[in-house]
Amino acid sequence: MVNAAFSWGICRGCTLLCGVGGKPVFSESSRTEAAREMRKSIRHSFMRQMRGRPFRNTRLEQEFGAAYHLSGVRTGYVFSLMAALSFVVFSCVEYFAFKRPMTDTVQVVRAALILLFFAIGWHAKVHTEKYEKNFHIVAPALMVVYVSGILFFEYRTQLYGHPEFFYLSVNSTCILLTIACYYFMRLPISIAILLSLLLAALTIGTVYVSGVFNATVVGRMLTYISVSNAVGFWIRRMFDMRERRIFLQTKRLKNVAALKQRLIEAETAANRTKTTFMAMLSHEIRTPMHTVTRLMSVMQKDFEGQLSEKRLKTFQQVEQACDQLLATLDDLLHYAMLGGTSRDDGDSEFKLDVLLVECAQIVDHSRQEKGLKLAIDVEQIAGKIFAGQPHKLKRVILNLLVNAIKFTDHGEIRLAVASHELAPKRYQVTISVTDTGIGIPAAELKNIFQPFYQVDSSYSRRFGGSGLGLSICQELMRSIGGAIAVKSEPVTGSAFEVTFPLTER
Ligand code: ADP
Repeated sequence: MVNAAFSWGICRGCTLLCGVGGKPVFSESSRTEAAREMRKSIRHSFMRQMRGRPFRNTRLEQEFGAAYHLSGVRTGYVFSLMAALSFVVFSCVEYFAFKRPMTDTVQVVRAALILLFFAIGWHAKVHTEKYEKNFHIVAPALMVVYVSGILFFEYRTQLYGHPEFFYLSVNSTCILLTIACYYFMRLPISIAILLSLLLAALTIGTVYVSGVFNATVVGRMLTYISVSNAVGFWIRRMFDMRERRIFLQTKRLKNVAALKQRLIEAETAANRTKTTFMAMLSHEIRTPMHTVTRLMSVMQKDFEGQLSEKRLKTFQQVEQACDQLLATLDDLLHYAMLGGTSRDDGDSEFKLDVLLVECAQIVDHSRQEKGLKLAIDVEQIAGKIFAGQPHKLKRVILNLLVNAIKFTDHGEIRLAVASHELAPKRYQVTISVTDTGIGIPAAELKNIFQPFYQVDSSYSRRFGGSGLGLSICQELMRSIGGAIAVKSEPVTGSAFEVTFPLTER
């Protein structure tokens, strides 16, 4: 305290003498006003020095104060328990090692202190909110209770007739509690000053009534108490600034986290809206499109034999365009609903070899139309029953087969499966779909899994499709813990591979 006031005085004096601040303090015309200004500035500066530079934002300062008080209450709680436990230890040591009976006055005083500190600790724990709210009254009161309790104990025991020890213990108690009162109890400076004066009075009073009063020693004690006040003040200032910095950093981090969370929520909501819109739109278009396709085939049947070659071709072209549009809408719908389809629907039992053969049969018609050969190799897993999500696998394999047929004009499509046993009944399965088609340039390989991506913009016209199939496959594979990869060379052909874990039943 003394130290702080002294250093502040020197700094302030120098500032005024050197005229730091730019404004002439004593001008002829406004002497009184300048004096008032100066007093105000001194008061303001003193308060700022004393309060450890509070935040200019009042709300922030209040928030900081609340956090400060809460940790003060917690410290008070820990202090009480520590004090109670240390007295329990002293009591036990004296009882067992030095055979001091529990009925001895010292032991009885200890027992009373143990109860008192436990009671304070328990009360602080149960009524934390009340303590926090009335912190400025509760904290000094607690401090007085601590000091009186400990000084009373020291006075009663008189440390077995050794005045030096008695002085030493009273003094160190006072010094420690002064520092604690400044830092741990975190009281406003004015209350801390009052409390330290009270502590000093209590200490000297204890020494006085103990009957071993010695003026020199008391003088020394007063010096120690002043020094401990100055140390306590500076420790408090240092920690206060540090805590303010940590408080600001934590607040900033919390704000950033909250903003990120809000961003994620906003993105999720926007995505949901977009998905719902796409799903609704494609569904709404699909229904009339189905009607158009059906009517086209009805009309074709009605006019069978009556149409010229040219008209029949036009009919067929319209029908093909409708089919293509329907397929694109299907893809769109699936892409929009991907969140739903990639959901974990639980495992069901299936035979992988049967599933693959079924897929090959579904696309067999278009394969034969193009005159492509088909080779299926399902030897390794033939007859095995697995647990998994067959509908997702089926969709992926069908998509790969459709692509293979679509982008191959001559040659062979190969569907093969290989399995590698990771643990008993646990397999890593790899299904590959290889073709001898147009292939994909190396630079495009990383892009083809992106939604709506086609290697060439003319593909949708030449081969149909929307560029969504592979991205749907990738998403479905991820949802079952698998992956999809591709190797391809232009002209030579492509090989798509899906790898995923499967459990045998
Ligand atoms: P879509 O086939 O509907 O266009 P996909 O997502 O299934 O969409 O495929 C994206 C692109 O990847 C295709 O447009 C094509 O350029 C390329 N691709 C996919 N499979 C093959 C393949 N087997 N051979 C050559 N290119 C392929």
